[in-house]
Amino acid sequence: MSVTDSPSLVAINYLGTKISRAREIVATGAELADGMRMRLTDQEHNRVLLLKKLRASEPVARTDLVKFTGLTGGTITAITADLVKRGIVIEEKVVSNAPGRPRVNLRINPEGKYVVGITATNDGELLLEIVNLRGESLAVSTALLTPTTSIADFARQFVAALETAIAGWPVRREDIYRIGVGIPAVVDNRTGIVEQILTFEPGPCDFGGIVERALGIPTLVDNNINLLARAEHWYGLGAQLGDFTLINVDLGIGAALYRGGQLISGAHGIASEFGHVKVVPDTGRLCHCGARGCIQAYCSIHAIIRQACERLGRAEPRYEEMGRFFEELMAEHAAAAIDIWPVLEQASHYLGVAVANHITMQDPEAVILCGPPIAMMDKLRGTFFAALEQNTFPTLRRRTKLYFKAWDKGAFARGAAAMVLEHLYSSA
Ligand SMILES: [Zn+2]
Repeated sequence: MSVTDSPSLVAINYLGTKISRAREIVATGAELADGMRMRLTDQEHNRVLLLKKLRASEPVARTDLVKFTGLTGGTITAITADLVKRGIVIEEKVVSNAPGRPRVNLRINPEGKYVVGITATNDGELLLEIVNLRGESLAVSTALLTPTTSIADFARQFVAALETAIAGWPVRREDIYRIGVGIPAVVDNRTGIVEQILTFEPGPCDFGGIVERALGIPTLVDNNINLLARAEHWYGLGAQLGDFTLINVDLGIGAALYRGGQLISGAHGIASEFGHVKVVPDTGRLCHCGARGCIQAYCSIHAIIRQACERLGRAEPRYEEMGRFFEELMAEHAAAAIDIWPVLEQASHYLGVAVANHITMQDPEAVILCGPPIAMMDKLRGTFFAALEQNTFPTLRRRTKLYFKAWDKGAFARGAAAMVLEHLYSSA
């Protein structure tokens, strides 16, 4: 990559000051080719689109796929032949007494290519699940995590847990097609390199490489919220949605964006740090990121626990105890043994403000709100919707579909399978 001064480029920095000597970044041929590999070509896009429609409507005939995708019959025949050859899709003859050629349906192959999803839970555990390419579970395992601040050591704990789980599962190791890792990290999902995990020593760390080299199985790594969104897009609510935003309220707050049927990671691979959108700028509560007034400092499980403990004069639990502590706190509140209503009401209000700002900026077809607190929000929906109504740009009010969802643990493994299907051609 070379950097040259360019008089033709006028740039301003984020304070609005003109940068006098704007710089033009010129990529070399090899770098350009590398960059292009990161984006799907039209042909690759068509292949993923077809696979997605096939997944959403299986079993399906080739002629119906013409209708669903808008692609020509010839293109459909060529792509499906390749998918059958790769063992991703199978053909099923439909038994019929009707004259003429028998109808042949296509399905995602439930056998032969399995994906292992692995993620870290809030309870200090690793959750491992093996699924087929239809997202159906074959086996589940858990393993205890030893606290660490080293990303490489964290990756090695994933390796050890994978080795043990795979040895005990009723699937041959050579039938494991890919491993999909979901971690709450700033990660480049094209390279598997982890840049940052909160409370860990700084990266970069070749997380995907550590797992892949140790197990000898191709490994993909992504942010865990992106995996939830991928699971929704291929196997859940989002299966018929091309444009949606998934917002996950958990220990922290994260979001993932699908636009035009593709996961958006932003120009720097970081999108989207929704938890650090400001709802009380300058004077608000201090956030992990060092800034003040982030939505995460008010609405995340950690923030609710912290504010409740301040109110009740209790000590904060350790990180790995937070999930259980939060459940107990909510149970005490429901039984009227404690009153943390102002904390919860404020959290619902600010969540409504942040979602309103997002809808105003992005105009998504749908917003899917998920995470453990969502199921507990019933009594607070009035506060959330009032803030949403008040703060959304008037023309956009009540147009966006809103879904509330308490995710199941298997969503991460389904997300890993979805990631494999989405990468089938870009990583080929
Ligand atoms: Zn922040």
